[in-house]
Amino acid sequence: MNNGLILVVNTGSSSLKFSLFRTGGDVLQQDVRGQIDGVGSQPRLMVKDHAGSTLVERDFADTEVREIKDAIALVGTWLRDQFEGESLLAVGHRVVHGGTEFSRPVRVDAPVFNALEKLIPLAPLHQPHNLAAIRAVRETQPEMPQVACFDTAFHRSHPQLADIYALPWEYYETGIRRYGFHGLSYEYIAAALPQTAPEIANGRVIVAHLGSGASLCALRDGKSQDSTMGFSPLDGIPMGTRPGGIDPGVLLYLAGQRGMSSAALEKLLYKDSGLLGLSGLSNDMRMLLENHAPRAQLAVDYFVHRIAKEIGSLAAVLGGVDGLVFTAGIGENSAVIRARIVGACAWLGMTLAADANQNSEPCITTADSMVSAWVVPTNEELMIANHTHALITRIQQAKTDTGGSAP
Ligand code: AMP
Repeated sequence: MNNGLILVVNTGSSSLKFSLFRTGGDVLQQDVRGQIDGVGSQPRLMVKDHAGSTLVERDFADTEVREIKDAIALVGTWLRDQFEGESLLAVGHRVVHGGTEFSRPVRVDAPVFNALEKLIPLAPLHQPHNLAAIRAVRETQPEMPQVACFDTAFHRSHPQLADIYALPWEYYETGIRRYGFHGLSYEYIAAALPQTAPEIANGRVIVAHLGSGASLCALRDGKSQDSTMGFSPLDGIPMGTRPGGIDPGVLLYLAGQRGMSSAALEKLLYKDSGLLGLSGLSNDMRMLLENHAPRAQLAVDYFVHRIAKEIGSLAAVLGGVDGLVFTAGIGENSAVIRARIVGACAWLGMTLAADANQNSEPCITTADSMVSAWVVPTNEELMIANHTHALITRIQQAKTDTGGSAP
């Protein structure tokens, strides 16, 4: 495989994040990262170099970037200008749902694309945007290898008990399963632990991915055993705007007695709840921590309470716990939240090292803490870039081995 560039794309409903990685060394090197926000409303392109210095900050008219395919075209034009003469080897995409079929990254050809489209009903708010980016690249550069990396894939090997709901069996067989999400983040952490925290890497670890979306994952020997998200990314712990686990009876009541439509329930559960709903102020943890309003404090208390409760539950699944890992926006940056969660886990034998926690050092528990706690920054983009590079290299190798006839 020649040296070149790997583009990683992560699309939301009105945003497109991208990162460019350079192949050639022992490990892939991130070159630039950027995003286009406000697609269809107030489009804005921002690009930073690997050191975080701003390279571009530019607003566009809403008519110039109406939809994701316009955003892809814009990124393509910028990259071609900026990296003239260099070759783009492949595009790797974050795709939220791989269903039961895709338990590892896959090169997207026409049959795979059709299969991914069939999964839209399982993730109607995310999958269509992920696929829009793939489609846009296929239309303009049909020969460009594209790789889909799934948020669900890492959990596909979890035990069957972690995969089911106690519903009649035919529901399971038609796809009503506990898929789990944030898999690319957990996979990155599992891969990083042997270097960062070798003493727990092969043990029983609970990873707390605490960002605007949030979940926990129980790992044994680096493999997913269970996680707090299930059929959808709604279950589990509270998030910026999602409530986490909620008695399904509440939803039956709201639909049956208060006449809420499924669209209204969807908005309630995805956009209006969680830290935002409880506080009535913000979905941003930083703002809530700085705010002394009683409901801001209540939202933070509830966040910590539910996480501590789920840690207990996953500790039971693992039959004990050797380490707790914090990652993502809140987990990596908020010493206050980490201290409160570790404090709530004192019963498990966890003792905070206050200074280490304040400095976000990798290990934030004392040397004699029976269970250790860690801060490990996640890097989902690098995970996607690595998967993409590995897959296209394997395909290229197979082609060479078979004289060019391999798929
Ligand atoms: P992510 O989705 O991983 O980008 O995480 C976003 C969340 O991280 C938001 O709720 C932010 O408020 C939160 N966050 C980022 N930095 C901090 C910080 N220093 N303290 C508390 N929360 C933070």
